[in-house]
Amino acid sequence: MATDSETSDPRFGPVTVLEGPRKGRYPEGNSLLVEGTRATAIIDPSLGLVARSDPPPRVDLVLNSHCHEDHVAGNHLFPDVPWHFHRDDAPGIQSLDAFMEIYGFDGPIDEVFRKVLVEDFHFVPCEAPHTFAEGDVFDLGGVTIGVLHTPGHTRGHCCFSIDWQEAYSPRRLVYLADIELTSFGPYYGDAWSNLEDFERSLARIRAIEADWYATFHHIGVLEGRKAFLDRLDIFEAKIAEREQRLLEFLAEPHDLEEIVAHRFVYRPGDDVAFADSVERRSMKQHLDRLLAAGQVRSLSASRFCRA
Ligand SMILES: [Zn+2]
Repeated sequence: MATDSETSDPRFGPVTVLEGPRKGRYPEGNSLLVEGTRATAIIDPSLGLVARSDPPPRVDLVLNSHCHEDHVAGNHLFPDVPWHFHRDDAPGIQSLDAFMEIYGFDGPIDEVFRKVLVEDFHFVPCEAPHTFAEGDVFDLGGVTIGVLHTPGHTRGHCCFSIDWQEAYSPRRLVYLADIELTSFGPYYGDAWSNLEDFERSLARIRAIEADWYATFHHIGVLEGRKAFLDRLDIFEAKIAEREQRLLEFLAEPHDLEEIVAHRFVYRPGDDVAFADSVERRSMKQHLDRLLAAGQVRSLSASRFCRA
């Protein structure tokens, strides 16, 4: 069913996957168009949509899985329809300052990333976004979009369960947004991220039966539960792998800045401007729970060693 061409976007019942260039590898992404008999929604308008030569599709509402630069990059193409966010992320779209709080970057990175948001990701604030919450359902006519609040990546990160009938049989496509199932693993390195929330969200998503599972980035659409679970296992295993590597590193005493420099989320050579910030925030969460579990002890306020 999937194709590579921009001109024949993959379709799953009422859902069309508007594939971004490079299969939606960051900073690109794959947006979903969901067409009901009464209304059409677009989910996570991406940079790829901005780059398309065709005019943007006519829609009645925009649904954003969360407030991150790549997921709102095409929102400005739909200035006259309501933009919807989970109520925990909605404050972020109201101003550039509020958006930056989600990342929580330090001084110089904050300044650089503000420019990137506006110039490369077309950030446009929305003073009064519409909000949704866990369990809300958008009925588009013959197809519904149900909200699954799955925090961890951001506070208000959501997946969507898209449900319809085909030849009297129920069909479901679950949109996983940035539970992106890549081998990079889960991202919980922002001020509004939380590792343990992410783990609970993964457990919740694992239990959901669907015909298809779609991610925003390059994994795209997986058909059937086995393909999904195989990918989810690889993705989720990165959390334990980072924690195990941290424990091994702390066989010798180190402080947090040495942990940051060693690199557990990114690879040592990765050229990512905000890597230090992400490493610090991600690995501090692992460190804190290893301390709480008694597997690591503090030698001083800032030096740690395996217990
Ligand atoms: Zn994201």
